[in-house]
Amino acid sequence: MDAMTFVLFGATGDLAKRKIYPALYNLFLDEKLPSSFSLIGLGRREISNTNFQKHVEESIQTFSRRSLYESEDIKGFLQAFRYESLDVNQLGDYERLRAAVEELETEMNLPQNRMFYLSVAPDFFEMIAINLHKSGLSSTSGWKRLIIEKPFGRDLASARHLNATLSRAFEETEIFRIDHYLGKPMVQNLEALEFGNPVLKALWNKEFISNVQITASETVGVEDRAGYYDQSGVIRDMVQNHMMQLFMMTAMQPPASNSPEEIRKEKSKVMEALRTVPKEEMADYIVRGQYESGEMNGHQVPGYTEEHGVSSDSMNNTFMAARLLVDNPYWEGVPFYIRTGKRMTEKSTKIVIEFKQEHKQENLSPNLLVITINPNESVTLTLNSKNPLNDGKIEPIHIGHSTKTEEVPEAYERLIFDAMKGDATFFAHWNEVELSWKWIQPILEAFDKNALALHKYPAGSMGPDAAEELLKKDGFNWW
Ligand code: NAD
Repeated sequence: MDAMTFVLFGATGDLAKRKIYPALYNLFLDEKLPSSFSLIGLGRREISNTNFQKHVEESIQTFSRRSLYESEDIKGFLQAFRYESLDVNQLGDYERLRAAVEELETEMNLPQNRMFYLSVAPDFFEMIAINLHKSGLSSTSGWKRLIIEKPFGRDLASARHLNATLSRAFEETEIFRIDHYLGKPMVQNLEALEFGNPVLKALWNKEFISNVQITASETVGVEDRAGYYDQSGVIRDMVQNHMMQLFMMTAMQPPASNSPEEIRKEKSKVMEALRTVPKEEMADYIVRGQYESGEMNGHQVPGYTEEHGVSSDSMNNTFMAARLLVDNPYWEGVPFYIRTGKRMTEKSTKIVIEFKQEHKQENLSPNLLVITINPNESVTLTLNSKNPLNDGKIEPIHIGHSTKTEEVPEAYERLIFDAMKGDATFFAHWNEVELSWKWIQPILEAFDKNALALHKYPAGSMGPDAAEELLKKDGFNWW
């Protein structure tokens, strides 16, 4: 891997502490960091290098999956971390930063490979890109890359504006958009499952699949994030990004090769074929919901509008289900259903593929392929089989495999490692982001105008009844 300087905006923030430093430490343990690695952390406050290194050490102690004691050279690792104060709005601060980066490059004899990671509020993305450009920090004799975290815009127009601004300093091939669901091992495994198995590959189309169901349910409520969540809702928080990525990874056709370009091309094709939800018939495609108080684990929990920081008349969405139709020869007539929300029965992310039955027979269950992404990773195939212990009655049996997740690298480890290598496979391409916003935009507008009913559901349930109806109309039910 190329030697590089890692420039981290938001180095004193929550994401850096909980995810980025632990990820870098685990990459260090696995000898996956470049031999010459140095990081310049940036934040508003003045902090000495020593105190910054202490902060990094503490965050590893608290959040890393492996302990500090697993390294024989933790000191050496921490010495790679330096700190500079910088206000994202002050061009002069970037000029100071450029001098510091150049000094480090000279001192350590590093090529001018620069990784800029924006772990800051998305409102700052554009200002930072402009100032990186103006200060000359993004003009290097080596490579330069930009890592940003979702959200990529609040709607189609703001996403386009953001992208146009980023493009002034970075090419598309230099931008690594993190959607951390794409860092989950089982999501990265989807393509291998779908197309590395001739049995499944042959069945991965409308001839054999009747419908697909993608669920990401959370048990938590809004917690202390009402300020953010009440403005975003589940549609911006989960659907536009994570759910659409899961959908693309499931509905794509075999790529011509395993290259990032080919894989992302296939994902974009799915989005291009995704039918726009007709405004007049939106209720046949989309269900939006909001949780009411209910019982969870024996405790009564408050409803969304009773949460701290949420107004009592908030019409925000905490649940969404949708029926997606893909107008291409592979999926014509096969509905893909997605649903996600807060305060649901269980915390789980899974994809269920329901296969067609030749003739519906009372005693036969449909074959199901269940791919569980979270909290444990597993793949299960449900088949019909005679049970000799029950008078030879035909019953469903489950053939399964699960992975021990504690030993699996965290999403951020995989993604940061890939970005350092320059492998963009599991990052969101602008085409995907833009097409996803295009599909979402009319739904967002209908939500904003309250043109679509807001269905209440009790905390601890799997969402409003309307989400069940969505499938019933097509003759299916959620698994
Ligand atoms: P945070 O508020 O904890 O940290 C913000 C950081 O930005 C701090 O280091 C602060 O010093 C810096 N900052 C603020 N104003 C600044 C300024 N004017 N100039 C320079 N630096 C300034 O935020 P966070 O939770 O770490 O989130 C960072 C980004 O990651 C956001 O885009 C967020 O949406 C995204 N994200 C966070 C999480 C998470 O788990 N926290 C998860 C997914 C995505």
